[in-house]
Amino acid sequence: MDSSGSGARVVLVTGAAAGIGRATALAFAREGALLLLVDLDPAGLEHTHADIIATGGRARTYPCDVADADAVQALADRIRAEHGGLQVLINNAGISANGAFLDTDLSVWRRQLEVNLLGAVHCCRALIPLLELSPGRARIINVASVAAYFAPRDMSAYAASKFALLGFSESLRAEMASRGISVSVICPGIIDTGIHQRAHFAGPVDAAQRRRDLNLRRHAGRAYPPEKVAQALLKVARHGPALRPVAPEAWLLYYLKRCCPGLLAMLERRRHTD
Ligand code: NAD
Repeated sequence: MDSSGSGARVVLVTGAAAGIGRATALAFAREGALLLLVDLDPAGLEHTHADIIATGGRARTYPCDVADADAVQALADRIRAEHGGLQVLINNAGISANGAFLDTDLSVWRRQLEVNLLGAVHCCRALIPLLELSPGRARIINVASVAAYFAPRDMSAYAASKFALLGFSESLRAEMASRGISVSVICPGIIDTGIHQRAHFAGPVDAAQRRRDLNLRRHAGRAYPPEKVAQALLKVARHGPALRPVAPEAWLLYYLKRCCPGLLAMLERRRHTD
């Protein structure tokens, strides 16, 4: 392993076809890692792959739905056969849902939990045996959200999935320490990616459209690029902290939640969403 701690490693990134996953894959590839790119969007995967190869990097693509436990196990079997082991697992694939609790269908709840929480669980179950082959070097990094420690209104399903991902990660970190695998969580903040356009908005069509437009206006001009999250992920892969907020608002909400949770809850109750 090189001194930066990221070269000559096999690094698997889920959700690598777009946004934070794509930027992360490109950043690790630039540092010399072999990238295993996982996503359910094959065309997006090919795009990330082509860009890594064009810059002299190394990568393989693995189309896979992380919500499908059997497909993830088959993926792990293939990776064992093709690469032997794995040093870094980045559970980044995620989807977002927005809308009032009573307007949100159970099918939306299930998909949020299946992708955002169980996707990481499936990958950890299937891939920890491969990570264990590199004790002391092995890393799991779960991409959660500010919504893992501060739950905004009208995002109950998303917040539940991310709070659960944080709890899962904290428990797993304690358990994996003796096996030489470090487990970290990264909480980005509001990042300029396509997730905001792709988000599910529950409720009557007009209201959902208004909330979508409002949401996009709020995020427009935010200009905090996924590449900055990728840089934070490189650092997390080096140092293995338990939790790392990234953007300024992620740090602010992290401290506010600890210092004055009542004030934060009151502001959130008063916030208009449409
Ligand atoms: P994005 O929509 O740009 O990219 C997500 C990628 O995940 C897509 O390529 C998508 O195809 C893939 N994906 C979705 N479901 C999948 C599945 N079941 N199996 C495999 N791949 C799947 O989103 P992003 O903004 O880059 O988000 C990445 C992660 O960061 C998510 O977990 C998200 O919750 C988290 N996050 C994003 C933001 C933000 O503001 N963008 C903020 C906080 C946390």
